[in-house]
Amino acid sequence: MVLQPTTLCNLDCVYCYLPFRRLRREMSPEVAHAVAASAAALTDSSSQLDIVWHGGEPFTLGRRKFEELLAPFEKLRHAGRIQHSVQTNATLIDNEWCDLLSRYQIRVGVSIDGPTALNARRVDLRGRPAVDRVVRGIGRLRDHGIRFSLIAVVGAEGIGQPESLLDFLASLGPHTIGLNVEEMEGVNNQRCGITRDQAERFWKRVMDWRRTHSEGPALRELERLTDYLHLSRSGQSDQWCRYGLDPIPTVSVDGDVVLASPELAGISDDAYGDFVAGNVRSQSIVSMLDQAHRLRYVAEFMTGLSRCQAECEFFDFCRGAQACNRYFENGSFATTETDYCRLTRQALITALYTSTKKEIAA
Ligand code: SF4
Ligand code: SF4
Repeated sequence: MVLQPTTLCNLDCVYCYLPFRRLRREMSPEVAHAVAASAAALTDSSSQLDIVWHGGEPFTLGRRKFEELLAPFEKLRHAGRIQHSVQTNATLIDNEWCDLLSRYQIRVGVSIDGPTALNARRVDLRGRPAVDRVVRGIGRLRDHGIRFSLIAVVGAEGIGQPESLLDFLASLGPHTIGLNVEEMEGVNNQRCGITRDQAERFWKRVMDWRRTHSEGPALRELERLTDYLHLSRSGQSDQWCRYGLDPIPTVSVDGDVVLASPELAGISDDAYGDFVAGNVRSQSIVSMLDQAHRLRYVAEFMTGLSRCQAECEFFDFCRGAQACNRYFENGSFATTETDYCRLTRQALITALYTSTKKEIAA
């Protein structure tokens, strides 16, 4: 489950998809209480729900307000039924934030696109580069012994230099690195201009880097591929199916919930309306999920997934990629291929195939 504690962000990345990132709208404790009640209904003693605080920049809330939002979840956290994570740009992290993160055992994901040249599109509201402040915040996490992952958006610049990107990210000491090839979504309506061939070469070089840095941090996309291959080869493909459809309820600051893709929050159009499945102040998330099939975009997305399964040779691994990419790129959730799946799912598989074929031939 994704919670958006505030719309505000202190940065202004060129590719950001959030429509209200310059406005300060904050989640109330009342909404957090309602979400905690839904979280209690969605979990039991044998299952744990990930609560991801994401978007705009959660730390612009200030520690007191953030703790007010965490308070309703404490009973569930102590019972091991939820786990908090936060996705941050790290620029506001100081020693006090580190204490809070440790106290609530919050997992941390930091967004950073690489060294100065590759990070040029991550700027503050005055257009000044943010990379030094991000690296400083990461240093504070390290000083406090807080484990963190890094997520980098790979654009037209980074796609041709995976080694320097990975060397830099690994030098910061994360336990995992995620690589997101730039997507067209939300208010970022520009295609990234990266070709399938470029993406395939990129993933092949990422695999080569992994071979020579086997002690380095985990690479999220390669871990996923490895898990898939392991389960397929050991005849446990049914286990892989759990990577299929995830409804990802996303709760906005006022309690509205969208399903299938966090990127749909705050978006509306004539065909689909506002994508809202309900509001947590008047309806539980469990009942929204029960009735989700009645929403036009969810029904169309299910059609898109069925078409993926019937038509696409990559489905067994992919399980059908994100709903939002279909909508933002193709205008309909019932479609299948997108730039996102070509560059991130398909190119990853074909990179592995061509490099393995070459190794066998040698
Ligand atoms: S840090 Fe994240 S939320 Fe803020 S502008 Fe950049 S991409 Fe958007
Ligand atoms: S690669 Fe694209 S078309 Fe194929 S299953 Fe995934 S999302 Fe569907």
